[in-house]
This record gives sequence, structure tokens and C-alpha cells, in this order.
Amino acid sequence: MKIIMLGAPGAGKGTQAKKIASKYGIPHISTGDIFRANIKNGTELGKKAKVYMDQGLLVPDELVVDLIMDRFTEADCEKGYVLDGFPRTIPQAKALDEALAKNNDAMEYAIDVDVPDENIINRMSGRRACVNCGGTYHLVTIPPKTEGICDVCGGELILREDDKPETVQNRLKVYHDQTQPLIDYYKGKGILKTVDGTKEPEAVLEDIISIIEA
Ligand code: AMP
Repeated sequence: MKIIMLGAPGAGKGTQAKKIASKYGIPHISTGDIFRANIKNGTELGKKAKVYMDQGLLVPDELVVDLIMDRFTEADCEKGYVLDGFPRTIPQAKALDEALAKNNDAMEYAIDVDVPDENIINRMSGRRACVNCGGTYHLVTIPPKTEGICDVCGGELILREDDKPETVQNRLKVYHDQTQPLIDYYKGKGILKTVDGTKEPEAVLEDIISIIEA
């Protein structure tokens, strides 16, 4: 099963992607997580990506495409995957389609988690991430058991540089300019499905499952 999660930053696609991946036993592949792991480990890729990420800009296509193609060669991708944060531009989507077509394969679902910009800005200011394991929380909707501390690993929770209000505005602009055109791209391919991302996370998940199991 091959699924792409689309949606603005903060629409909740990451949360849904993780749940779907665990329900269907396929990997959740988040390019943002891969970049953050590289930054934490001080790799060359991490150093290059950080310059863009801290400004809310997209990392150049060639860096992302190479990285994801590499990830697809790992054994856990055999039965499919849920892509979260990739593709984010039309050239990335085309590179993905070409790579799949070489193996007589194609993407099955592009699920757009739709949330208006006003809701996004409110949501992101409450988001907190663990400096250690990258786990994400929200001060109002998914609070940690102890304030400022990760439930999973005990790491410190912080407001990520790219979740700060001025960066969020930038990320939304980048989303509308560069990523939103993917909605029409996948509509044209007949695989776009839209879910209302303003609902409670459990209800959004149910909507996604009914699309996949229809
Ligand atoms: P995310 O956690 O998916 O919101 O990603 C965080 C940041 O990583 C983005 O704001 C981009 O700077 C970078 N990034 C993640 N995925 C991509 C991608 N597919 N193309 C370009 N940049 C990306």
C-alpha cells in the first residue's frame, strides 16, 4: 500500500501518517524527521538542510529526491509506505512517479488533510517537540503528562525553530506556492482524496481508513 499524505504544515498529517503506518504495518517515512535526525547527528546533509529549514524554506529538490530514493531501497518498504512531507513540489512528485513507473508501480492514494490557515497558525504556536526523540505534543490537544517533558524518553520539550510564528507564516506561503499545486496534480491522476482535518484526530483517522478500505 503506497500512500502520500498532503496538507499544510501543522494540518496533522504527521500524526495521521504514523497511525496509518502502524495500523497497516508499513513504514512511516517523514523527510522532515530524516532531516532532523541528520541535523542532530551533525551530518553534511543535516548542515545543508538546516540553513533552509530554519527559515521555513524547502530544502532543494535534488537533496530530498536522492534521500528518499535511498530510503525506498530499504527492506521495510517492500509492502509499501506512508509518505509524510514528500513530495512537496511538482518536480519531486514527477521524480517519484518516474521511479515507481520504472518498477511498473504507481502511487495509490494522495490524501489531503485540509485545514484553513487560521487554524494552522493557532495549532503550531502550541506545538512542542522533544529535543531527544523528536516526539511531538501540543499544549492544548496532546499535552505531555509532565509539562515540558517527553512522555516517551524524558527529553526536554521545546518550540521548534520552524514552528515559531514568523517561520510558520513563511512555511504557509511556501506551502501555498509550491506544495498546494500537488493537489491538482494528484486530482489529475485520479488518486486525490480530501479529508476534513479540522475534525478530532480520531475522526480524521476514521475518514482516512474508510477511504483506504472502500
Ligand atoms: P516537516 O517536518 O515535514 O514539516 O519538514 C520540516 C522542514 O524540512 C520543511 O519546512 C523543509 O524545510 C524540510 N523538508 C521536509 N520535507 C521536504 C521536502 N519533501 N522537500 C523540501 N524540503 C523538505
